[in-house]
Amino acid sequence: MAGPKALVAGNWKMNGLTAELKEVRLLSDMLKGVRLGCDVMVCPPATLIRPVVQLLGSSRIKVGGQDCHDAATGAFTGEISAEMLEDAGCTAVIVGHSERRTRHCETDAVVRAKAEAARRAGLTAIICIGETLEERESGRTFEVVSGQLAGSLPAGFAGDDAVIAYEPVWAIGTGRTPTRGQIEEVHRRIRRDLIEKFGEEQGTGFRVLYGGSVKPNNAAELLGADNVDGALVGGASLKAADFIGIIKAYA
Ligand code: PEP
Repeated sequence: MAGPKALVAGNWKMNGLTAELKEVRLLSDMLKGVRLGCDVMVCPPATLIRPVVQLLGSSRIKVGGQDCHDAATGAFTGEISAEMLEDAGCTAVIVGHSERRTRHCETDAVVRAKAEAARRAGLTAIICIGETLEERESGRTFEVVSGQLAGSLPAGFAGDDAVIAYEPVWAIGTGRTPTRGQIEEVHRRIRRDLIEKFGEEQGTGFRVLYGGSVKPNNAAELLGADNVDGALVGGASLKAADFIGIIKAYA
């Protein structure tokens, strides 16, 4: 049975000034006329969401936010709500990235509340989960990943509401990647958990992305793994030429 349509999403993190809009223009031009085998999304910093949305117009490239608050409005200086992202033209938002789990002490409960906020605003939540190197080396990968999935993905969600991104923390920004076999065993486990929680039909409807040092030269190998429905890409999404090399793994 064919799985869900793949998604390749680029997380720019805290990178990008107005000058970098040229990369989005370039990406859009490069994709013109290309038969896409996947959905494509860019998640620029909040300051560039509006200009990116305007620049892309009716292009097939979607725009996502990198984080949101769980409340819709309120006295939360510096925060951005899911409703604000939707209003700015986003269709999705990343929640629970390991950089936020670690640096901002975000628990599964916080991530789940953000995912619920995303759905309330009509956005797809891209929920990140993944083990640290220490957790992997102590044989706790499945326990950690299953625990984060259970705690972060709200009951009652379906494939349109959330995308899961498996991102081993030790592979993010390091140039180190799991083997295809290691990716497959974790994705198989995630799929099993999704089916157990939501039933066969709904559980197979969620996209499960792989993220962590995906580059044009390893994309075909890593993304060709069983149960991998696309990629969440950090560093290699900043340059159109690199990002398109990953998107083309699905051409
Ligand atoms: C990420 O931060 O989500 C990520 C996957 O980063 P990189 O591709 O740079 O490892």
